[in-house]
Amino acid sequence: MANGWNGKLLRVNLTNGTSSVEDSSKYFEYIGGTGFGDRIMYEEVPVGTMPFDEANKIVVAVGPNTGSSAPCSGRTTFTSLSTYTKGNMVVNSHMGGELAVMLKYAGYDAVIVEGKAAEPVYIKINNDEVSIESAAEMWGKSTREASVMIQKKEGRGFTVVACGQAGENLVNLSCVINAANHSAGAGMGAIFGSKNLKAIAVYGTGAVHVADPKKILDLNNYVMKELMGSNNNHVVPSTERPWAEYYDPDSRWTGRPGLTWGAAEGGPVDTGDSEPGKINKFGYRCQKAFKDFGPASEKYTVKMTGCTSCPVRCSATVYLPKLEEEGYVAAVSNTCMPNFMWSKILNNYKDYEDEGDGRFYCNVAALSTADDLGLWDNYGELPNTITYFLKHDLLKEILPKEEYDSLLWDKYEAGDAAFIKDIMVRIATKQGELAHLGEGAYNVNERYKKLLGGKYLNALEMSVWSPLGWSKHHGNECDAQVGALTNLFFNRDCMCHTIVNAWGAGLPYEVKKEILEKRFGEGCLDKPKNYTPMNVAKAKFAKFGVVRQTLHDSFTLCNWVWPMTFSPCKERNYEGDLSVEAQYMTAITGEEWTEEKLDFAAERVLQLQRAMSVLWMGTNDMRHEHDAMTDWPFDMEPDFKPFEEGTIKMDRKDMELAYTMLYKEMGWDEKLGCPTRETLEKFGLNDVADKLASLNLLP
Ligand code: SF4
Repeated sequence: MANGWNGKLLRVNLTNGTSSVEDSSKYFEYIGGTGFGDRIMYEEVPVGTMPFDEANKIVVAVGPNTGSSAPCSGRTTFTSLSTYTKGNMVVNSHMGGELAVMLKYAGYDAVIVEGKAAEPVYIKINNDEVSIESAAEMWGKSTREASVMIQKKEGRGFTVVACGQAGENLVNLSCVINAANHSAGAGMGAIFGSKNLKAIAVYGTGAVHVADPKKILDLNNYVMKELMGSNNNHVVPSTERPWAEYYDPDSRWTGRPGLTWGAAEGGPVDTGDSEPGKINKFGYRCQKAFKDFGPASEKYTVKMTGCTSCPVRCSATVYLPKLEEEGYVAAVSNTCMPNFMWSKILNNYKDYEDEGDGRFYCNVAALSTADDLGLWDNYGELPNTITYFLKHDLLKEILPKEEYDSLLWDKYEAGDAAFIKDIMVRIATKQGELAHLGEGAYNVNERYKKLLGGKYLNALEMSVWSPLGWSKHHGNECDAQVGALTNLFFNRDCMCHTIVNAWGAGLPYEVKKEILEKRFGEGCLDKPKNYTPMNVAKAKFAKFGVVRQTLHDSFTLCNWVWPMTFSPCKERNYEGDLSVEAQYMTAITGEEWTEEKLDFAAERVLQLQRAMSVLWMGTNDMRHEHDAMTDWPFDMEPDFKPFEEGTIKMDRKDMELAYTMLYKEMGWDEKLGCPTRETLEKFGLNDVADKLASLNLLP
């Protein structure tokens, strides 16, 4: 066993009901998580396999840092084939919750699930005892019901990741859920469903072996005292505080005296001040329900929660008893898009206890339903699609009259979330024509192409980034070309927070600029809505963004907070420390790791991913076939020209230059955007280069 890694990979074959343990060390150079997942998919799943084929696999992987106690290290990556984008290429989904550390404690770096069970099953992993159990009684149940049933049977110590009805019914936009509210999306629910796999339950009692535990504790204190702010590493508070030089109303560091968890057990809790250095008050900084919904949420907030080993606690747990009366699970937690996207489907909201609380109730009801069904919103695309079809009166066009009339229009008029719930259930159980809206934007556009006339996929209100069907995930609003470029790398929404975290850290522009320019060069950071043309410093910054993201998803660390680009401490001149990941890697493994060496390993994963996309697409013209953007970033705000103050509109020619500059930074062919033999061999990917060459896919 090496320090950090367990050195073991569990393979479970659902077709013949067997499991085996293999040596995982041959994958160490891919770090873990995403890196393990991609390499294993590359080696084991033939190009052209479809997501629901028996030959498709699921790789559940963690990394050397998982469970080390480093802040935000409890993340898991699921890797498989995309269900919903054009070409069904390999995608990674990243989950928080408690699965990651449990898998590590059980003794594994990864689990490969292959084949297909004849009947519904769940995989039980109890340290080194592995079995495949019947899930007949859990099939048809919600993610949360199934998880509780398994825990009652196997013991409360097990953590369960389960698909819901959406997964069972092979709905493209589906997810799996762990610990009630933590999801892995990108169709992972349907991949589980296609294998007749309801859940994976894990219980581990082992240890994570690290070379230098004392150094890790020292690093933990250093990070929490000097470097870490709040969620998205916002390093200033959202309101003026006597201890803070700066504040920013957009900051997620919302905790302050007078702001309460009104529904806390034992009575309201005042979140108080949690200034830098006070590490025992860390969990009071981020008040996400208040950030998203304002005072309406305060009296329903029970606490902040989050993933194992995370002091930030970015997920707001709220309890709305009145929803229980209406048949919802009334206590939910979330932090991201589902917190506020679903309510946009309605035009007005019925209030519950107080005037103006209706939108909050509506979102919680919808979020609760989505988590139960294991329905994935595709970073807002599904609610956007439903809203688009409603707003443009398109449901009348696509639905048979009887189906259209059967929608709960009275609830719609009354501003009742029951309208949304009904639509979600129909999609998750594949009822009628409406269910096609759950196939993802690319497929929706293909199905109704004539009716939609190219407008839907290119509409600003849809925020679809790629014509292949993935959504914008912090794009051109974050440092123009830099944010835009990060959205082209992966085969789904990029989930890259490195740039948006730096962008939105809350410090004044000049402070951020000075710190970032030291690393990336002059001109890497534009003023908000005052963009300048593309330059090399921006290409370097964009590359850094995705390299660190890939490192975090492989290591594992939460890219919602990491890297430590800035600091909340005036004494540090607000400068963070980008070498901390490498310091952890050294302390964990006992080997010397520098920032450069670790970034190089993360880049190896990115290079492999790109090569895999070339293989799956069967073309090396990535510039046009993979990286092309939808029209809205170029056509938005018609009263503005690109680079005028006040707009985030992009310029087509400038964006082409941005691609070229980024391709150069990545060592890719500057015209095509695909990896060259020289670059692949630099990262030891000679076999990948040979494979591309054999298919005439090298430039
Ligand atoms: S910041 Fe949020 S998502 Fe990230 S590890 Fe912490 S609780 Fe989990």
